[in-house]
Amino acid sequence: TPVMAIESSCDDTACAIVHADGQIMAETTLSQSGHVPFGGVVPEIAARAHLAALPDLVRDTLDRAGMQPRDLGAIAASCGPGLIGGLIVGADMGKGMAIALNRPFIAVNHIEAHALSPRLPGVASNGAPFPYLLLLVSGGHCQCIAVEGVGHYRRLGGTIDDAAGEAFDKVAKMLGLGWPGGPAVEHLALEGNPHAIALPRPLMGRAGCDFSFSGLKTAVAQKLPAEVRTALSHPLAADIAASFQQAVSDIVIDRLGHALGMMERPTTLVVAGGVAANGMLRARLQEFAQTHGLPFAAPPLRLCTDNAVMVAWAAIETMRARREAGLPIPDDIAMRPRPRWPLAEMAHRMTADAD
Ligand code: ATP
Ligand code: FE
Repeated sequence: TPVMAIESSCDDTACAIVHADGQIMAETTLSQSGHVPFGGVVPEIAARAHLAALPDLVRDTLDRAGMQPRDLGAIAASCGPGLIGGLIVGADMGKGMAIALNRPFIAVNHIEAHALSPRLPGVASNGAPFPYLLLLVSGGHCQCIAVEGVGHYRRLGGTIDDAAGEAFDKVAKMLGLGWPGGPAVEHLALEGNPHAIALPRPLMGRAGCDFSFSGLKTAVAQKLPAEVRTALSHPLAADIAASFQQAVSDIVIDRLGHALGMMERPTTLVVAGGVAANGMLRARLQEFAQTHGLPFAAPPLRLCTDNAVMVAWAAIETMRARREAGLPIPDDIAMRPRPRWPLAEMAHRMTADAD
């Protein structure tokens, strides 16, 4: 039976209908543009934009799938972690539909949805069997997770300050490029020398697999001659972009090496999150996986960034895992969205105590 999912945890409004076997019946994503003048996501603007967009988006998604609301077997929504205003809008929309249709409502952890996305049929050539190593790199997250089963996630390490995408965005701002900055920095870096500017690689070589990008960002600010801020054509701008990108990639590869040592025999290396769009990082990850004899999987970009297909898929995997454990379909109608929702709490959902 098809599951409809809603995603509204940050600045993308998305809806999807996915069949229990993983077939995507319809998917729609709207990236909010109202934040551009502010150079970052404004929570209040995001929540209002989700509210304005969702009713039409839901109807449009049903139309594209050629379905009626009564054809849906369950309704899911991201209920955290994320910006609380948007989460409330999406969760309430989903709950309203679930009540009206008399179907179960499934609250999905947004990070869990990213974590399970490589198991969507067709994404990883080997289907990403458990356990696998996930690198999640986006505007809001930067962490390594051992994905050991549905509901079973072990956070191996994460950023102690900025997320990787956030660092790209801040460096882009310093260089006078627009927001979001990742694609602009990557484009500029193509013309630069990645070894021209000496930049630090915080935490590299240290035990564990935590990340830190704040010192790197500060170093970029210090290397930046005042004239680069206004003259993008300055040759140094491209060198800075290239050297910064090189430093980020070096850090990520080093940390992943440590993460590998912290888990037993991962089947696959998986990357998710918007920063996975970066061609240089992707190439380095591919090479790293090959060196360690691991298959490498990167979902297509639309499934790497925030989307509702992965939310529907996480709900489907949760329902299936609970059924296999002899547990009923969860009913999360009373669950309130949570700005913070640690992955470690998900194992509890796979037990009868959760009901
Ligand atoms: P969340 O963190 O909640 O998943 P988000 O909207 O911040 O949400 P994504 O949409 O997954 O994250 O990714 C956006 C981030 O990815 C931005 O910080 C952007 O700069 C970065 N990014 C996008 N393309 C590239 C690229 N080619 N190179 C580097 N960074 C990129
Ligand atoms: Fe996300």
